[in-house]
Amino acid sequence: MWFRRDLRLNDNPALVRALADYDEVVPLFVVDPNLFDRSGLSRLTFMCDALNALDDSMGRALLYRYGDPVEVIPSFCDEFGIDAVVTARDFAPYGARRDRAVAERLEAAGRRLVFEGSPYAVDPGTVRKDDGTPYAVFTPFSKRWLSAGWSSPVEAPRTPNWLGAPTITCAGRPTRPDIDVVLPPFTETGAWNQWEEFRDRGIEGLDGYDDRRNDPSVAGTSRMSTALRWGLVHPRQLLLELDDSKAHQVFRSEIAWREFYGDVLFHRPDTTWQNLNRKMDAIVHDEGPVAVERFRAWCEGRTGYPIVDAGMRELLATGWMHNRVRMIVASFLVKDLHLPWQWGARHFMRHLADGDVASNSHGWQWTAGTGTDAAPYFRVFNPVAQGERWDPTGDYVRRFVPELADLATSQIHAPWSKGGGVPLGYVPPIVDHAVEREEALARYKAVTGG
Ligand SMILES: Cc1cc2nc3c(=O)[nH]c(=O)nc-3n(C[C@H](O)[C@H](O)[C@H](O)COP(=O)(O)OP(=O)(O)OC[C@H]3O[C@@H](n4cnc5c(N)ncnc54)[C@H](O)[C@@H]3O)c2cc1C
Repeated sequence: MWFRRDLRLNDNPALVRALADYDEVVPLFVVDPNLFDRSGLSRLTFMCDALNALDDSMGRALLYRYGDPVEVIPSFCDEFGIDAVVTARDFAPYGARRDRAVAERLEAAGRRLVFEGSPYAVDPGTVRKDDGTPYAVFTPFSKRWLSAGWSSPVEAPRTPNWLGAPTITCAGRPTRPDIDVVLPPFTETGAWNQWEEFRDRGIEGLDGYDDRRNDPSVAGTSRMSTALRWGLVHPRQLLLELDDSKAHQVFRSEIAWREFYGDVLFHRPDTTWQNLNRKMDAIVHDEGPVAVERFRAWCEGRTGYPIVDAGMRELLATGWMHNRVRMIVASFLVKDLHLPWQWGARHFMRHLADGDVASNSHGWQWTAGTGTDAAPYFRVFNPVAQGERWDPTGDYVRRFVPELADLATSQIHAPWSKGGGVPLGYVPPIVDHAVEREEALARYKAVTGG
C-alpha cells in the first residue's frame, strides 16, 4: 500500500482493496525530494507530524524510502518480491505523470499498480456536459456534480496485518523541522475532533457558516482544508454530515469548488502555472529589483497594508490563511504590485499546509482574472476597505501584527491616516493603492480592450 495524500486508515478504499486481495500489506511512503524540498517549514512540519501519526496508528510499521518514486517503487518491489502496489489515484499533473511512469516500470517487470479511490467525492473527469465536454463554469458544474452523487464511506473488512517495520528495515523518518508553529490537527482523530467541534458549535459553527465564513477574526470556517489535503478525512465523509439548510448548502458548495478545480486541472494540466485564458498572457508585469523587493515585502508581511500583512504573517506562523484574506493578499500582489500570480502561488504552495495545486492555482487565477469564473478585471480589492469590512474590530490584524496592537479600531486598517506616521516598528505603505488601482485597470484594458 503506497500512501501519498490519503494518510488515514478509516474509509480508505485503497487499503480496503489491499486487505481484500492480500493477507499481508506492506505500508510504504516515499519521501519524494520533488515535493519535500519545495516545502516551507510549516508545511514540512505538518507532513512529518501527519506521517508520524499514521505510523503510530499502524503500530509503527510504516516504511519510508527516499528518492524519485519512479525509481524507488519498482526497486522496492524487486527487493521484496511484491507483485502489486495499491494506491489512491492522483489526478494532479505531477502525480498523474509520476503514476504513469511507475505503472509502466512495474508492468515491464510483470507487476501492477492498482488504483482504488481518490481524494475527491466525484473523480475529476467524471462530471461532464450532455455533449461530453467538461464544464468551464462553476454553477452548472456544481449542479451536475450534486446530481452525480458519491459513494458511501467504506469499512475495512479486518484489522490490517502489516508487514512493515521492524521486519523490513525502515529508511528512517524524514527530519521534522524544529520550529514553533501552531498547525492544524495532524491525526485522524484530531481532525475529526476539530470537525465535530465546528459542526456542534451551532450558529457559531457549521449552522452559521453562510453568515460568518468571510470574517477572518472569528473561527467561522471549518479549517478542514489541511485534513482534506492530506486525506486525514475524505470529502464524502463531510458531505454525509450535511443537511439541506442554507448554511449546510453553502458549505457543500465550497467542497464543490474544491472538486471543480480538481476537474478543471485534470482537463487542463497546463493551467498549473499558465493562464487558463491565454489572452491574458499579454498583461504586462513589473520586473527588476524593485519588483523583487516588493515581492519580498509581500512574502514577509511588510507591505504597510495591515490586512495584507496580517494574512501573510498568519501564513508563515500557522501554515494556513483565511479564504477572504487569501483573496485580499492575492489581489494585492497582482493588482497593486503588478506581479505575476505564479509568484504568489509558488509562495503559497511552499507554506500552506493545505497547499493543493488545483485549488491554489485556480484560486490565484480567479483573483488574477485569468481563470474560470474569473472575477471581472475591474474588481480590484481595496485593502483598507476590505479590512474595515471583514475585520471590523481589527482583532485579526492585532493578532498577527503586534506593532499595531495599541491602535484604535478606527485607525487599525490605515495606520497612516491620522497623520504623525505609522507606529514604531511598522512600515508605511509600499505603494499607493489608489494609484496602482488605476495602473492595473489600464494594463487590463490594454489587453481586453474593455
Ligand atoms: C489565492 C487562493 C489560494 C488558495 N489555495 C488553496 C490551497 O492551496 N488549498 C486549499 O485547500 N484551498 C485553497 N484555497 C481555497 C480556500 O481559501 C481554502 O480552501 C479555505 O480557506 C480553507 O479553509 P477552511 O478549511 O476553513 O474552509 P471552509 O470555508 O470551512 O470550507 C470547507 C472546505 O471547502 C473547500 N473550499 C473552501 N473554499 C474553497 C475554494 N475557494 N476553493 C477550493 N476549495 C475550497 C476546502 O476544502 C475547505 O476545507 C485558495 C483560495 C485562494 C483565493
